[in-house]
Formats: sequence, structure tokens, C-alpha cells
Amino acid sequence: MKTPIDRSDTGLNPHGGTMLPMGPGLLANSLLNKGTAFTERERDALGLRGLLPPRVFTIEEQLERTLSNYRRKENPLEKYIYLTSLQNRNETLFYRLVQANIEEMIPIIYTPTVGQACMEYGLIYRRARGMFISMRERGRIAEILRHWPYPDVRMIVVTDGERILGLGDLGALGMGIPVGKLSLYTACAGLHPYYCLPITLDVGTNNAALRSNPFYIGLNHERIHGAPYDAFIAEFVDAVGRIFPKALIQWEDFGNHNAFRILQAYRQKVSSFNDDIQGTAAVALAGIIAGLRLSGGRLRDQKLLFLGAGEAGTGIAELYTAAARLEGLPEAEARKLCWFVDSKGLVVRGRPDPLADHKKPFAHDYPFIPTLAEAVEKLKPTILVGVSASPKAFTPEILARMAALNKRPVIMSLSNPTSKSECTAEEAYKATDGRAVFASGSPFPPVTLNGRTHVPGQGNNVYIFPGVGLGALVSEASQVSDAMFLKAAQTLASLVSEEDLAMGRVYPALSKVREVSIHIAKAVAEEAYRSGLARRAQPADIESDIRARVFNPNYYDYV
Ligand code: NAD
Repeated sequence: MKTPIDRSDTGLNPHGGTMLPMGPGLLANSLLNKGTAFTERERDALGLRGLLPPRVFTIEEQLERTLSNYRRKENPLEKYIYLTSLQNRNETLFYRLVQANIEEMIPIIYTPTVGQACMEYGLIYRRARGMFISMRERGRIAEILRHWPYPDVRMIVVTDGERILGLGDLGALGMGIPVGKLSLYTACAGLHPYYCLPITLDVGTNNAALRSNPFYIGLNHERIHGAPYDAFIAEFVDAVGRIFPKALIQWEDFGNHNAFRILQAYRQKVSSFNDDIQGTAAVALAGIIAGLRLSGGRLRDQKLLFLGAGEAGTGIAELYTAAARLEGLPEAEARKLCWFVDSKGLVVRGRPDPLADHKKPFAHDYPFIPTLAEAVEKLKPTILVGVSASPKAFTPEILARMAALNKRPVIMSLSNPTSKSECTAEEAYKATDGRAVFASGSPFPPVTLNGRTHVPGQGNNVYIFPGVGLGALVSEASQVSDAMFLKAAQTLASLVSEEDLAMGRVYPALSKVREVSIHIAKAVAEEAYRSGLARRAQPADIESDIRARVFNPNYYDYV
């Protein structure tokens, strides 16, 4: 008997002809289990009689029950644990529930609750939803990957736990991040869970408090770095290529000193990307492109001042540069649109401290300026981007100055979580008489000022990475190129409606994320076919090909 995941209507699916397990084995398989929804016929034919209570429920009834159980949980972590155990039991029902309540549940299965879940991962750990590969497995990674029960993995999200959200080094506890991101791939873009593999590479942790915790689940030594670390990553990439040749690797929450190096080393060798750098860049660029419909002007006419010159900031500036070049600016001119203030002041050529490589392309010939306020005064930016995780750095004075310099200043306060934001939505609107085009990393409630309500947009990466991943997978792209991220950003911006803009929102409502992902996947796949990076022949109609291949959480009759 074929498994239901062999059905062509479930999309990007395996065609292995796996035998359907019977009885307890079927109930224990989260991809196949339907719980109380197994029909009378199935209960007889599949050895389930007596293993389930007698009443047969529909999926709608199951949904009602699970939603009410979920809402009874008293705090976000309890809700996270409830959803995780549902996911481990019955993925169809889990994804049905999450898709139907996406705005309510994204903050539970991902940031901010996932951060708390990671910190407590050792305590709430019940069953591994992914693979832990530690330095102890050096030399045996391919053999370890074969232990994963599903042979046709297409999407791997991997972390080494060094920079988990804004929480720092959580070592092996970082596993919550790849698990959460892959759940979003399925919920937001319809990637079949069968294809998803979360991985945590455990190379130790420099978090002394964790190492001294008797319940810590990871390796109890300092992080390995240098050549042994690089060799471990190289072995991992090689092993993935051999065991799961169609898999795309998404690098996630690596420390910034490794994130740029790893991305550079592998982006043209294997299908891979870094969401913290490239996904953030695309979501921010989309917000800016949509914001310009309110503030006016082309990308090449803007001047961006970033506070923070890390993965997010320089990633955004690189993609912005590429977008401005499409408007006809030579690269050197396009780079001069982006300026950075980091923890030491304005990033300029000849600054006495050595600049990290990723900052050098944006170190311009200009006198050094020590503070953000003075940099705003001298450089007169049109767009201010906060990616420094330094709370309240956009003071009312700085915001008011932006409003004096610009009719509609674009203010992006992207640092997460909320407590790290450079300013709140309310602060931005108040200091600019409601003229700011504002977007943030963490969600802020609408603000009413002088009788007008402003709805701030949230530049959440979830608008971008699921669609990019899906587009790269359906086209079997050998690389995930900058051009694909550019297309993703342009597509997202194009989906911001006039109604969204009228409310001040530069992103579509999160409830539309599944449609957004399909459009982005189409744009990314088109780019893969156009550029010759696709390893699959182009279908006649790319969009219907994608729509036919996405996973829809439905029950199928097994008998
Ligand atoms: P990072 O550690 O790579 O970079 C942080 C940068 O900020 C560094 O250049 C550092 O020098 C600078 N910095 C620190 N304190 C500063 C200060 N007081 N003044 C000026 N600069 C200062 O981190 P990252 O990955 O770039 O992330 C930065 C922030 O952006 C985080 O809060 C993260 O949550 C947020 N982020 C948001 C999104 C999103 O909204 N979609 C996506 C990714 C990252």
C-alpha cells in the first residue's frame, strides 16, 4: 500500500512507494497519523480497532478542539509546548491549525516565543525533531545523516547555536530555531514536512552558565574555532551533498564572524543561503521600495544611514546596492548611497580601528563622525535603518531631525526583540508629526495621532525565506543567487496594496503570507530558469506547477 504522501496532489513529494505502517506504528507516525479521524474502514483494515476511542471525528471537529485547548494554555511557552506535541503527534492537524490562525501562532512557533523555548530547550526537550551533529561525530557525518528516517530531504535549516536571535550563544539549545523555521516553511509556503530536516551542529558553547548547568544537553566545552571548525563545516556540506543531493542548506543564527565566511565559501558551490543576511536584506528592501511609493523618488535618489553594521545591516546595503545598479548607477556610486554608524562611530576609510571585511565596501572617504545624531546632521539621510540592537538609539531629537530634513522620512527600526528596538512606532510617529514611513522588526500596535491611525508594517523575514526556498526547490536551483533575493524583494513590494499604504503599512497583512510565498516562489523559479541555475526543465506554466506541488494539510483515505 502506498503512503498518502505518494499522492501527486500533495506536491513536492517522494515517490518511494513506502509501505503504510499498521496499528501503533501508524499512530506513532506524525506524517500519517489522523488520530480520532481514522474512519471505521481504516480502523478495521489497519489494525487500529481498540487503539482509538470509538467516536470518529472530522478534521474540522479536531481543529475546534485543538484550538480551544491551545487557547486555554496560560502563557506563550505552554502554547509552544502544546503545539510542538501536536506537531509530533499529527502534522496534518498541526499545519491545518497553524495555517488557519497564522497571525496568532507565528509568534508562538517562531520569534519571540521560540527564543524562550530555546533557552528552556533542555528542560522541555521530549523528542528530537531534528538531528544533533556534534564534534564527536567528526569523520562520520555522512553515516549519521543516513540515520534520518526520510531519504529525500530537500530543505535543511542548520545552526551552530552561536547567535540565537538576540539571545547570544545557546549552544545545542539553539535547536528550536531550525525546527521553528522549517515549520514556517510548511505553514507559509506549503513545503511538505517530509522534505524538511532541522540540524544543530554542536561545536561546544562559550556560554559558561550553560556549561555549568547540570541539565545542559550539549557538549560541555568551549566552542571549537579555526581550522577544525572549518573542516567540520566542510565535512557537513560534503556529506549533505552525498546523502541528500537535492537539499538546499539555509544557514541560520551563526555568529557574525562565521556567518559571512560560510556564506562566501559555499554560496556558489552548493544551493544555500543565509536568512539573517540575505532574507533580512530582501524584506528590508521590499519595505523601502513600497515606502518610496509614499515618500517619492527612486532608489538611486536616496541616502541610507544604518545604525549597526553587522549581518543585517551590510546584507541590506549589499542588496540595496544591487537594486540601485538596476536603475543605472555604477557600483561605486550605488555603494555611496549606504552609510554606516557602528558602535565606534561612522564607518569611514582610514578609521584607526581595523574594519571587518563586510564593512569595507561601505567605508567611504569622509571625515570621521562619532555619533548618530551628528551623522544625521551632516549626511542628511532620507532613510534611517536601525539594526544595532541598541534600544532607544533613535531619540526623539534624531527622529525630529529626520522629519525636518524630509517630507516623509523612512524610519526602519528593525532590531529584535521589541526591547532592543531603536524606537517604537509611537515614538517614530510622534516625533515626526505622523509623517514617518515606519517599519519595525518586532510587531507594534497601531498608533492614533491627531485623529489618524497609523498601522506600522513588520519587516518579518517570514515574508521572504519560505517563498525563496520553495522557488529554489521547485526549480532545483544549483545556487540561490542575489538576483533571486532581488526578485523576491520586488515581488513582495509589488504585493503591498494601496489600502496597505493608506494605513501606512509597507508590507501586506501577515494573513496573506501563503499567497505572498507562492508569488515569490514563482519569481525566484523564473529567475532560476532564466539564469540557467535550474537543474530541472522549465514547466509550461511555472505558477500552476508550484501550486500543484505545495502541501495542503488534508487527510486522505488510506483504504
Ligand atoms: P550583528 O551582531 O551582526 O550586528 C550588530 C551591529 O550593531 C554591529 O555592527 C555592532 O557594531 C553594531 N552595534 C552594536 N551596538 C551598537 C551601538 N550602540 N551603536 C551602533 N552600533 C552598534 O547583528 P545582526 O544580525 O546584524 O542583527 C542586528 C539586529 O537586527 C538584531 O537586533 C536583530 O534582531 C535584528 N534583525 C532584524 C531582522 C528583521 O527585522 N527582519 C532580521 C535580522 C536581524
